Amino acid sequence: MTDSTLVWFRNDLRLIDNPALIEASASKNPVNFIYIFDDTGKHSRPLGGAQKWWLHHSLSRLVEDISKRGGRLDLYHGDPEAIIPEIISDLRPTKMVWNRRYHPSDIACDSAIKANLEAGGVSVKTFNGTLIREPWTLTSKSGGAFKVFTPFWRAARENYPIPTPLPAPDRFIPALKPASKHSVSLEELALLPQNPNWAVEMGEAWVPGEVGAAATLNTFIEQGFAGYSENRNRPDMPSTSRLSPYLRFGEISINHVWQASDMAVQSGRTRASSEDLRVFQAELGWREFSYYLLYHQPDIAKFNVQRRFDAFPWQNDPSLLKAWQKGQTGYPIIDAGMRELWQTGFMHNRVRMIVASFLIKHLRIDWREGETWFWDTLLDADPASNPASWQWVAGSGADAAPFFRIFNPMLQGEKFDPNGEYVRHYVPEIARLSSKYIHTPWAASAVELASAGIKLGQTYPRPIVDHEAARNSALAAFKALT
Ligand SMILES: Cc1cc2nc3c(=O)[nH]c(=O)nc-3n(C[C@H](O)[C@H](O)[C@H](O)COP(=O)(O)OP(=O)(O)OC[C@H]3O[C@@H](n4cnc5c(N)ncnc54)[C@H](O)[C@@H]3O)c2cc1C
Repeated sequence: MTDSTLVWFRNDLRLIDNPALIEASASKNPVNFIYIFDDTGKHSRPLGGAQKWWLHHSLSRLVEDISKRGGRLDLYHGDPEAIIPEIISDLRPTKMVWNRRYHPSDIACDSAIKANLEAGGVSVKTFNGTLIREPWTLTSKSGGAFKVFTPFWRAARENYPIPTPLPAPDRFIPALKPASKHSVSLEELALLPQNPNWAVEMGEAWVPGEVGAAATLNTFIEQGFAGYSENRNRPDMPSTSRLSPYLRFGEISINHVWQASDMAVQSGRTRASSEDLRVFQAELGWREFSYYLLYHQPDIAKFNVQRRFDAFPWQNDPSLLKAWQKGQTGYPIIDAGMRELWQTGFMHNRVRMIVASFLIKHLRIDWREGETWFWDTLLDADPASNPASWQWVAGSGADAAPFFRIFNPMLQGEKFDPNGEYVRHYVPEIARLSSKYIHTPWAASAVELASAGIKLGQTYPRPIVDHEAARNSALAAFKALT
């Protein structure tokens, strides 16, 4: 039997700095590549609609990139535990490689597959292709799991040298066998939205895949990085990297982003300061911390990390929830954010915090409703960062913002979108309002509203809740809890 290797792609849809791939191509044996789209819900959380759109395009590019190098990526659909034995019996590889995952149910799935393969004489090698530090390598001084970000991040960075990303292999030795009879075409995965195709604007805003990731990193380093520590809070400026969907699907590695940001500052390629670098890399640290939390608290999307929040009196109000989802709350910064999300599959981080706070505290709707909506609509919806961030805003998470910190949507808008440009872009029906009232249309005079073409309650909603009253009842509900 000829030695051959099977590479299983998962959250690492790239050729550059992909340790499993490097291992496979270094052996000079023929290589088969597979991707399994698992929407069974048995292991990983099934992807939301926006992510499926992204995955379609990312896989399409990966198929092309592998084929240009002489290889072939075969696609499958279903439960990996059931499919892999079939692929193995068709392709008969002698070795299988993959980069590791971190949700305990994924780990259990991978461990069962590994044990099966090894029992059948197939050797298995797995790698870290996703994180700076894998969760099980870090414990606090007392030997337990970290619960607070700062000491976690200090420990994670210890002895982390500036990494050198591994180059993409030039050529692959083509697989000798045709695809397994169980493989499917990209179209058969049916990942794209049909009737209606709500992803048109996503296609204009994003280029999924490795080439898009590299271009996005480059643009950030040249245009957004200088001043990042201050400007990253400004949704009206192109000041953050927009790398999150690429990192989520592993189309660029964390080592690559880390090294590029470090080198850009060291070499003077950017005017970014060492503070910009520190703050940017700390954001990458929050991604690490989220994965650490996911590993230690696999049910983070389902249960409050702080169980006292189980008794919180959430409101069940579908019409308020719908107004929030559709960007029809009457609070311009909230509506702009929710519409940015719907149209582009992305929302600026500062605005994510404001809209999440509004849902949880002003509307007193369970954070899980918001998390689920984000899961379906965000291109970067991440099984770790999404629930961890929602619990952070709710105050129920690890090292979370206190519940009583309730964002004032008017002040947040005035501070971080001072001229209202972000609001004007996503809420065009109030675009002609002066900057003075762009975050508070209800405070404008009848004359001012009329000259901006606004009929409050008709062309744009009045606020669905009164800020002060909503704030007070949220605080009262929280007080009753403590
Ligand atoms: C309610 C809520 C939900 C969120 N859901 C997600 C999610 O599903 N997926 C996701 O990747 N991020 C999520 N975030 C974190 C953050 O908003 C996004 O990572 C960020 O907006 C992505 O934009 P960027 O790539 O331009 O970020 P940059 O500012 O350029 O940051 C660089 C990278 O660091 C990581 N990062 C930055 N901030 C955070 C953070 N607070 N937590 C974890 N990682 C971070 C991301 O990978 C990001 O691409 C959420 C935040 C909130 C408040």
